[in-house]
Amino acid sequence: MLVDNIEKINQDIQLACQKAARSDNDITMIAVTKSVEKDIAKELAELGIENMAENRVDKLLEKKIALKNFPSIKWHLIGNLQRRKVKSIINEIDYFHALDSLKLAEEIQKRAEKQLACFVEVNVTGEESKHGLNSDDVIAFIQQLAAFDKIKVVGLMTMAPLNASEQVLHEVFSKLKKLQLAVNNQHLSYAPCTELSMGMSNDFSIAIEEGATFVRIGTAIFRGA
Ligand SMILES: *Cc1c(COP(=O)(O)O)cnc(C)c1O
Repeated sequence: MLVDNIEKINQDIQLACQKAARSDNDITMIAVTKSVEKDIAKELAELGIENMAENRVDKLLEKKIALKNFPSIKWHLIGNLQRRKVKSIINEIDYFHALDSLKLAEEIQKRAEKQLACFVEVNVTGEESKHGLNSDDVIAFIQQLAAFDKIKVVGLMTMAPLNASEQVLHEVFSKLKKLQLAVNNQHLSYAPCTELSMGMSNDFSIAIEEGATFVRIGTAIFRGA
């Protein structure tokens, strides 16, 4: 049952927070609905889930229309965004988690009607198959965003490697935390960078121990439901 899965996830979030001496008020659980139909997303909304994510533009728009009776839901686009699709989505979302190029920033600047909360995506481990900036390029990239008043850098986002050991997961997430502190040291008004979007079904407890504030959870919500 969805409700049992969510309760278990909330318990695990609390445990991880206790372990790290953090408050669970600082953690936002985002439900990633990419693997389920809109009826299930609606059930989540009825259970009080307030943050929903999709990794594809068309799917997000479809779910948002289906859930129009839940206007307080915050919509997160967590996947790679092609420039030609910016126009159709950018004014429909509350958070964008995958900013990783100036060309994309330019298009967002052109199309956004108001300032958008963005996460800069970082490829911490440098895997070739992955989107995101290399860690070494993040500060310079964020400095260049000064020219784009429609973009607010609220945080950094990463995806850990699949099937990584706990030790590697700790390393990856703590590297993103360090990078966040480096960004904070720049004191850029458009880049408060107070948030860290990291942690998925299999690694969110470790991500929270290392400083995650937004966890993106799909599979664990829908398991057996
Ligand atoms: C699918 C997805 C998630 C959720 O992954 P689960 O393992 O199902 O929890 C989180 N973040 C991104 C970017 C995703 O594409």
